[in-house]
Amino acid sequence: MKILITGGAGFIGSNFIRYMLGSYPGYQIINLDKLTYAGDLKNCEDFADNPNYEFVEGDIADSKLMDELAQKTDAIINFAAETHVDNSIKDPTEFLKTNVIGTQILLDSAKKYDHSKFIQISTDEVYGDIHEGMFTEKSPLKPSSPYSASKAASDLLCLSYFRTYKTPIIISRCSNNYGPYQYPEKLVPFFIKKLLAGEKVPVYGDGSNVRDWLHVRDHCRAVDMIFHNGMIGEVYNIGANEEHSNLEITKKMLKTLGLKEDKIEFVTDRLGHDIRYAIDASKIKNELNWEPEVEFDVGFEGVVEWYKERFK
Ligand code: NAD
Repeated sequence: MKILITGGAGFIGSNFIRYMLGSYPGYQIINLDKLTYAGDLKNCEDFADNPNYEFVEGDIADSKLMDELAQKTDAIINFAAETHVDNSIKDPTEFLKTNVIGTQILLDSAKKYDHSKFIQISTDEVYGDIHEGMFTEKSPLKPSSPYSASKAASDLLCLSYFRTYKTPIIISRCSNNYGPYQYPEKLVPFFIKKLLAGEKVPVYGDGSNVRDWLHVRDHCRAVDMIFHNGMIGEVYNIGANEEHSNLEITKKMLKTLGLKEDKIEFVTDRLGHDIRYAIDASKIKNELNWEPEVEFDVGFEGVVEWYKERFK
């Protein structure tokens, strides 16, 4: 099996390649990444010399290059994306180019070279927010930010390719990941970096926005199961049922670092800020036998320690 993994120099993609090379020594992996500000080859250093691994720098929206790589591979797992909501609020252009046009170009290459699978890594943010209850895979898409709108658009494109061309797509929609190798613009590494520099951390609004938190290793295990055993044309939610407000997460971080709550600074809320994300992950649990394994408190403290070392 030769797999084209896109966005593998980013947070989840690099964790996933590490996981796959360790779990399937017979697989060959090509990592295609544009190395935007969020991609870093340092995230891949420990497996860069693996004989089953190859890195190619490039853009998923480059159809000639995607055709070349699709011709050499059997399947695509698409992690490549512009991912920071705040950037999408400032300027959505790159989000549409990469997340929508890029996905369309990848889908076309997979179709042209008759790939056996195309896994689209999506997000729970495509459903928008929910005050009570949980979204299932059948819930309507109601994205709030240009980021989540671009991800919803790429999900719909994938579903249309399945219906129209029988392209063997599967979509995963995961909740907030925490783990090593995340670019320090996202809450956990951003706050830890600031705190270690002696600075205060800016919490949006009153910090009451709730997210479901899943360890990146459990996300990688879920994508592995979806890739090998998921039903073509289906969508799978991936979540941990670990709901915490941003303020709770910040306080937990402060406690682990031995710091006081006076390091918190409440700032003007993000435009259109989603109140709560909550997804029902019973489909992947019942059909593919996936369960999160990393206990939140243990996993979170481990990750804070990891960044402490990283930012020393
Ligand atoms: P990230 O921002 O850390 O990494 C994205 C990677 O994609 C980077 O290495 C970047 O260089 C690369 N990239 C960007 N544009 C590209 C292009 N045009 N061509 C090739 N490569 C390009 O993101 P992440 O947090 O690892 O997220 C990966 C995927 O998982 C995304 O699709 C995201 O929507 C999804 N997701 C993330 C989370 C989360 O909590 N981080 C949760 C659910 C879903």
